[in-house]
Amino acid sequence: MAKFRSPSVAERATFTLPAHETCNHRNYMLSCEVYEQMLKETGQRCEICQLPASENSGGKLFIDHEARRGAWAVRGLICNRCNTILGKDGEVPRNEAFANYLKNSWYRREFTKRGVSLEGPPQPPEGSKVQDAQGRFWTRRGIWWSSSDPRCKSRRWHELVVRSGPLGLTVVRPTHLVLHVDSPMEMAEQLLAHMLPEHLDKLAWLLAGGGPAGDGNA
Ligand SMILES: [Zn+2]
Ligand SMILES: [Zn+2]
Repeated sequence: MAKFRSPSVAERATFTLPAHETCNHRNYMLSCEVYEQMLKETGQRCEICQLPASENSGGKLFIDHEARRGAWAVRGLICNRCNTILGKDGEVPRNEAFANYLKNSWYRREFTKRGVSLEGPPQPPEGSKVQDAQGRFWTRRGIWWSSSDPRCKSRRWHELVVRSGPLGLTVVRPTHLVLHVDSPMEMAEQLLAHMLPEHLDKLAWLLAGGGPAGDGNA
């Protein structure tokens, strides 16, 4: 599943260049559409000091993010100078413009609006499979998630959320399960965790002695 489709020629024409020359915003999991929206909302001015993007180096603003949360935690668009000031470890200037900016981070507003927890979704059960923002698959084995990509080391759930963001992980429902047939309790937990309700209903019906359904017997 491609998370980001490429914009059409018509869409590109409406975009604000040079910000899309490299579409660097994708490194922060912002689609062209979302990024365009941010450019419009900020009026292409630094969100702290109001410097116009055209007067900043490269003619565009920096995408500022909260490093401890991950690249997806975009705080806003700011100029070179303000970015340098914020970049100094832990030294937040005692200045109203900076304080307001940090209090109203874009990602906080955005995720609150969508009702998404900043900590990400709860960890899916043992054996689950998820797809990350880069399209890789990860499977849970105990506390570790291992990737379909052999170059990736195993990670914990929290690390996957940091890397992909609260909205970047999609649970892929398994079509096969290895069931603990000697433990009905564990087996039931597995089935409850992975099966769709309508499939569970049908399974219950079959186990209760219902015949195979729907083969044209009137
Ligand atoms: Zn773009
Ligand atoms: Zn600035």
